[in-house]
Amino acid sequence: MDFNAFREKMVLRQLVDRGIKDQRVISAFLKVPRHLFVEEALRERAYGDYPLPIGMNQTISQPYMVALMCELLELKGNEKVLEIGTGSGYETAILAELAERVFSIERIDSLMQTSRSVLDSLKYNNVVTKVADGTYGWREESPFDGIVVTAASPKIPTRLLSQLAVNRHLVIPKGDAFSQMLYKITKTDKGFDTKDITGCVFVKLIGKDGWEN
Ligand code: SAM
Repeated sequence: MDFNAFREKMVLRQLVDRGIKDQRVISAFLKVPRHLFVEEALRERAYGDYPLPIGMNQTISQPYMVALMCELLELKGNEKVLEIGTGSGYETAILAELAERVFSIERIDSLMQTSRSVLDSLKYNNVVTKVADGTYGWREESPFDGIVVTAASPKIPTRLLSQLAVNRHLVIPKGDAFSQMLYKITKTDKGFDTKDITGCVFVKLIGKDGWEN
C-alpha cells in the first residue's frame, strides 16, 4: 500500500482544497504517518475523510479537524503547547512538528500506553505526557503558548484559561453531548476574545470541568 500517496492526496483534497493555508501545518501533515496511529486492520482507511475508532469508545479525529485546530494555534516553532486528550497521539505528533515542546494529557491509561509507544518509535522526544484529568491543565508547566482540547466540553475550563499566555489561543469544542461549536479564545491583557469557528462533533471531555463520567 502506498501510504505516501494516500497522505499527499489527503493533504490536497481534505486540507488545502478546504482552506488550510499554514505551510508548516501542511508540511507536518505530509510528514506524520497517520496510518501508524491506528490499529493494523484500519490502516488502509487511515487517510480517509473521517474519524476512526481507537478503542475505549474513543476516536482519532478527522484529518481536517486536526489541521484546523492546529492552524488556529498560529504556531511558529518556538512554543510550548498543551494538548488535552492525547487519544491516538496523532495530533500530538503534528503539534510536535509545529512547536518546540508539547505537553499532552490523556485520562485513559491504555490509550496513553499505545500512543506513547508510537510517539517514542517515531522519536518525538519533545513530547511530555501524563495520565490525568486534563481539565485541571498542567499548572507547573504553565503558561502555555497554545492550548488545544480534543474532546467536547460543556463549558470552558477556567484553569485552562489561566494557564494560557497573553496573546495566545485556546482552541476548544464546546456544546452539548451531540454537537458543538469549535471556539478560538485569545487571551489579551484586557481579558478574552472569543471567536466561533465551525460546528463540530467530538467525544466527551470527562472530568472536573467537563462531563461527569
Ligand atoms: N486528537 C486525538 C487524536 O488525534 O487521536 C483525538 C482524541 S479523542 C477525539 C479525545 C480524547 O480525549 C480521548 O482519548 C479521551 O479519552 C480524552 N479525554 C476525554 N476527557 C479527558 C480529560 N478530562 N483529560 C484528558 N483526556 C481526556
